[in-house]
Amino acid sequence: MTMAPAPSTSQSFGKKLYEGKAKIIYATDDPAVLLTYFKDDATAFNAQKKGQIVDKGKINCAISTYLFQRLTAAGLETHWLETTGDRTMLVKALDIIPLEVVVRNLAAGSLCKQTGLPLGQRLEPSLVEFYYKNDALGDPLLTGDRIRALALASEEQIDTLRRLALNINQVLTDFFMGCAITLVDFKLEFGIDTQGQILLGDEISPDTCRLWDQATDDEAGRVLDKDRFRQDLGQVEAAYQRVLDKVVAQSTKN
Ligand code: UDP
Repeated sequence: MTMAPAPSTSQSFGKKLYEGKAKIIYATDDPAVLLTYFKDDATAFNAQKKGQIVDKGKINCAISTYLFQRLTAAGLETHWLETTGDRTMLVKALDIIPLEVVVRNLAAGSLCKQTGLPLGQRLEPSLVEFYYKNDALGDPLLTGDRIRALALASEEQIDTLRRLALNINQVLTDFFMGCAITLVDFKLEFGIDTQGQILLGDEISPDTCRLWDQATDDEAGRVLDKDRFRQDLGQVEAAYQRVLDKVVAQSTKN
């Protein structure tokens, strides 16, 4: 399957609707369609650490494009419609569910910090966790009871989110395995489209996934994701570019 992102084109931007840490969302002539612009800005630790990763916007736009296409080909619907430039994609407008859905295949990050599980321990079955998408509260981990108490999603929606997250994990884990990259964990955001269907939104990139290079066991050397920025490991741009190169090669292969 070879579906390269479209080459850069002059893109007309509508009204700016929202500017987040890594992306800007613009309106288009069609209220059911939005334009996403990928920035180079990087933040970590709830925006306490700020910086720029050169060309991150371009790389994440391209990686997200390939991965959204891969999910679509596997029958998993996403908000992605068309990549229109090297930092821009048209997406379906979604009413975003204020949950960050994290899938974990190996222990890392906050899971290790909060539970003492050793870094890299395989989690079988994979974990699906829900965090409250709320910067002011520091995106706290939720329980089923808390989701109910806050009325963030219905019982049925939670079941759907869990099922979709695990299906997406299967497709992405297999894809990255073909790139000789281990998909350690990742964060997804979902929303409801104008038809009332739950679709995957946001992005899938080294900003939102932990990706370990299988070419080395070195604990710092294997990191190909935003942990290089979070932990000041250096060579952030090179790591993101390496992920893109592998994703392109794998997408061109089959
Ligand atoms: N993640 C994210 N945005 C967030 C929090 C987490 O994209 O606001 C991703 C993160 O990159 C990792 C996964 O979700 O791939 C799990 O993150 P974790 O809970 O371990 O938190 P962290 O260690 O990143 O603070």
